[in-house]
Amino acid sequence: MGAAGVSLVVNHMKHNVATLPIKGKRIIIKDAMIMLYEKAETPEWPHVVVAPGEYVVSVLSGKKGASGVRVCRAGVAKPRKGKEVGRVSVDHAAIAICDYDALLAAAKADLDAYNDWTEDECETAVWEEESGVLMFGGVAIAHMKTGVGDGEFPVMELLDGDKIVGMECCFEDDILPGKNSKRPEISRPDAPPYGQHTFNQNGFCRKCGWERDFLMRVKRENCETK
Ligand SMILES: [Zn+2]
Repeated sequence: MGAAGVSLVVNHMKHNVATLPIKGKRIIIKDAMIMLYEKAETPEWPHVVVAPGEYVVSVLSGKKGASGVRVCRAGVAKPRKGKEVGRVSVDHAAIAICDYDALLAAAKADLDAYNDWTEDECETAVWEEESGVLMFGGVAIAHMKTGVGDGEFPVMELLDGDKIVGMECCFEDDILPGKNSKRPEISRPDAPPYGQHTFNQNGFCRKCGWERDFLMRVKRENCETK
């Protein structure tokens, strides 16, 4: 699939990953492998409401490689950090950034294709590339490895004056480090455990990322984390 409308910037000094055209009003930062919940009008991921335009995704580097990621409106030279907008929980050592409204519309338009794409094209790219840009249904999705596996990372809004122009996520401020850390599990009252999976409030397994309804439909009781 071609990446029309996306300029790929390979620049090792600035570590820019991509410039994303944002047409909707919300940008999200998510686990790269976990699908959007198609009924979630409010994103279950940290997000900021921004003006449409071009937004540059860049990797922030630290002593041990990638230390975080930033998405900021093109042309804003020195954004300042505002308040924390949420925390992104990462189970697959990679995050993705995209136009939420555009991806949600594309996923809703063909949920089966979105399923297949997540398992196939998305999974391959997320595992094989340090960073890059994926396309689904004409929507550009920037992805990159967090470098530290699982964790929960704070996301801060970025401001230019009093306007929100993006957000920044710091991988080094891992709140719950390590695979053995106790992560609070939230379960919907109407979504009790199924097999070995544990579900978040939107009905997605926190370990394998699949939706409960889908897992029950295909009778997949074993949670196979990679
Ligand atoms: Zn599972």
